[in-house]
Formats: sequence, C-alpha cells, structure tokens
Amino acid sequence: MPTARRLQPFGQSIFTTMTRLAAEHDAINLGQGYPDFDGPAFVTSAAVEAIEAGEGQYARSAGIGALAEAIAARFTADTGLEIDPMGEVTVTSGCTEALAASFLGLLEPGDEVILIEPTYDAYRPDASLAGAVPRYVTLRPPEFALDGDELRAAFSPKTAAVVVNTPHNPSGRVFTKAELATIAQLCLEYDAIAITDEVYERIVFDGEHVSLATLEGMGDRTVTLSSLGKSFSLTGWKVGWAIAPPALTAGVRAAHQFLTFATATPLQHGAAAALAAGEEYYRALEASYRSRRDMLAAGLDAIGFEVFVPEGTYFMLADHTRFGLAGDVAFVEHLIRTTGVAAIPPSAFYHRPSDGAPLVRFAFCKDEATLAAALDRMEQLRA
Ligand code: PMP
Ligand code: GLN
Repeated sequence: MPTARRLQPFGQSIFTTMTRLAAEHDAINLGQGYPDFDGPAFVTSAAVEAIEAGEGQYARSAGIGALAEAIAARFTADTGLEIDPMGEVTVTSGCTEALAASFLGLLEPGDEVILIEPTYDAYRPDASLAGAVPRYVTLRPPEFALDGDELRAAFSPKTAAVVVNTPHNPSGRVFTKAELATIAQLCLEYDAIAITDEVYERIVFDGEHVSLATLEGMGDRTVTLSSLGKSFSLTGWKVGWAIAPPALTAGVRAAHQFLTFATATPLQHGAAAALAAGEEYYRALEASYRSRRDMLAAGLDAIGFEVFVPEGTYFMLADHTRFGLAGDVAFVEHLIRTTGVAAIPPSAFYHRPSDGAPLVRFAFCKDEATLAAALDRMEQLRA
C-alpha cells in the first residue's frame, strides 16, 4: 500500500538524508542540528536518579506536576505572564510533538495557516496532516526581515493560525518587537491564533528574544512551544511543551493524549531539574555558542562564502554561489564528497525549492575542535 497522500510530498526528512550521507562518507556533520557534546550533569543525574527511584510508569498525560510547575515558573520569570501549571502547560515528546498536537488539535480541514519561509521542516507536513492549507510569506537574504505588506497579503478571512519561529531556524533571525507587533495586529484583526516555536529562546547573540504571547491581546490567542533539547544540549531526550490559555490547551491536549498520551517519566524529572537552572547557566550557554558562531563565520568568510551571521540559534546560512555549483543540493553533495563536510541544503525549507538554491546551512552546535577540523577540510573549496 502506498504512503498516505497527505505525507507523500515530503519524502524523507532532509536531516535523516544528510546524516546518513555524512556517515557514508565519513564526513564531519555540520548538517543536522545536534551537539557533539553531552548535556549538563545536573540534568542527566536527575533523570538517572528518577530511573533508580522506580519512576518507570506512565506520567500524568499533560506532564508530571514538578515539570509543569518548573515550566510555568520559567515562563513567568522570562515573560512576566502568570500561568496555571496544571491548566495551561502540556508536556510533549519534543517540540515536534507539540507542533503536531497544536496543528491537529486546533485546526480544521480547509483552515489556512501562514508559514514564514524558510520554514522548519515539520510545519508543512503538520499542516498537511491537519488538512490545513499553507499560505507562505518569504524571508529574503541578506536581512531575512519580515515584510509587513507580504504578511498582510497572506492573511484572509480563512486564516486560522500563523506559525512564528523566533529565534528562527535556519536564518538565525531574532524577530524584533516591531516585526512581532505586525503579526500580533494581524492576528487580532483576523481573529487568528499564533503558534510560536521558541526552541532557541536561550541562544540569542544580538537583539532580544520576545515571546509573542507578551504582546497586547496575544496572551489569549498564542500557543507557545519550546523544548529542552537546545537549551540543555539534550536533543535526544525529546522533552517539549506547549503553553496556552485553557481553551487552546484543551485542543492541544485532545491531540496529545492520542499521539503519545505522555512523555518519558524519568526524563521529565531530569527536565524539571534543568529548568531550575539560574541565569549563569544560560549566560555560559550563550557565550559558548557566541564564540563558535564567530569562529565559523570568520572561517567561512575567509574560504569565500557570503555569510549571513545569525542573531540567534546555532545555525548559519551562507551563499555558496561563488563556488559555481548548480544549486544547494549539488553544492552539499560536492561538499560531502570532496571535502568531507556535511551541511543542509535549504531548499528543503521552501515550498519553491529554487528559493533555497543559493544557500547552504551549517550547524555550529559542535566542539570548537570539530568546527576547526571542518573549516580546515573546506579550505579545499578555495582552489
Ligand atoms: N522547531 C525548530 C525550529 C527546531 O529547529 C527543532 C529542532 N529539532 C524543533 C522544532 C524540534 O524540537 P524537538 O527536538 O524538541 O522536537
Ligand atoms: N532541528 C534540527 C535541525 O534543524 C533537526 C531535527 C531533526 O532531525 N528532526 O537540524
């Protein structure tokens, strides 16, 4: 039997494809965004303790109380918004599940959903699974700024939701308060909700991360998503969450209970310990990524790429056209085969793949020695 039509257009995830190719060619993997170092011991030891204490059964579907409280406390500290941990927080299996639960639990078939391109790879399939119709707004190099007129043109009476990812993967943009205010105004005007993906909220170098939920009128119509993976270098734990007012939480939970029902109990205990971390933890995280960003940007620039230095996230887009390859897929294949470095071809993040053709995405959530070795290998491109 063929794969269901609603999933056929999407094929295999670009991250899986590139990680497989990297392994086949023994390439340094600057493609899929996962750290090549461990998460902090104060987090991992809390999960080990929970396993040893026998925390091996189903958790409360919406998340263990200690984690729901830790998420709510963190959100209040970061945004000033008071929320009810039991009624407005849903723990999910990564932000990936929180996204799927939000689309499936809140959108009706035929609803329009606005996606800001380049989009994280899961948004289009999630829309398709929900039967929602995507409308696209495109961020363009070198600024990747949100064009208010283009955004307004994408809204219609059928718009049910807009998906906002800030800090933004793959461009590294941290949207300004003015850009977010434009989105908020249109959501209010068209009575649409916002689904915000803030998984890189703690990896910000320039500007300031603003949660859309804090803007006037948006608290009641925003589903704020995040996860542990990026802020605590534990992408494989897949602990995420959705924060939303009770009416929207009801939809998210209605889907979540049948997608996964609950998330791994011992890892939720680890996540609760993680979120108790103080500001010094986050400052060190940011500083370590800032120096890696600067190192990779300088190295790529010296090799001849046009680098779009990210304001946040651990991704960097660059223009590769100076090297004369026909498109991003050809460039990345060349990079893997001839230099032994893997990256992501960004055409996967656009509904018109040609929009991504001049670009390549590198991940710098890697040890500095890994980045240095990758830059060294890419020196060959100069020739
Ligand atoms: N959203 C964005 C923008 C991401 O980059 C990622 C990275 N994996 C996710 C969601 C998924 O997060 P998780 O691993 O917590 O499912
Ligand atoms: N978010 C990661 C990235 O953008 C990949 C996540 C995944 O492999 N599903 O590289």
